[in-house]
Amino acid sequence: MSPSKKMLKREIDCPRCWKRMDQEEVEVWGPNVTIDTCSSCQGMWLDKGELRKLLGDRKLADYLTKHIGTKSESKLVCPRCGNLMDHEFAEETVVDVCLTCGGVWLDATELDSLKDKSEAGYEGDPDMKAEELMQEAHAMERRKRLKRFRR
Ligand SMILES: [Zn+2]
Ligand SMILES: [Zn+2]
Repeated sequence: MSPSKKMLKREIDCPRCWKRMDQEEVEVWGPNVTIDTCSSCQGMWLDKGELRKLLGDRKLADYLTKHIGTKSESKLVCPRCGNLMDHEFAEETVVDVCLTCGGVWLDATELDSLKDKSEAGYEGDPDMKAEELMQEAHAMERRKRLKRFRR
């Protein structure tokens, strides 16, 4: 094997099975991306921006990875930066997004279902996002008030 000139990304462990993941080059529109895949659960890790490239759908990718708040509901820990992840919803598909580095964990079939949704014209659910952001704002307000009391 000839040494590759390309900078390899740091290898990571699968956040579900704790096994070392494989790196796989995927052809997309534009430069190929290298994603991390788990041979045991078939899940995949996408670093920030990679979901957009794989989906080829900026709107849906942004919907899933932007304005995701600070409250974590996921049980997964980000394999890239070790911080907490949160659930984001695209109808019945639940993806895990890292609150800190913006990476995305997709379980085995989730990329396909996101692609299906994207092809069907789904761009996210603005009402649901608004609701989530409002709850987040309320929670922040409460935390601020509590702090004030404690002083
Ligand atoms: Zn796995
Ligand atoms: Zn992270």
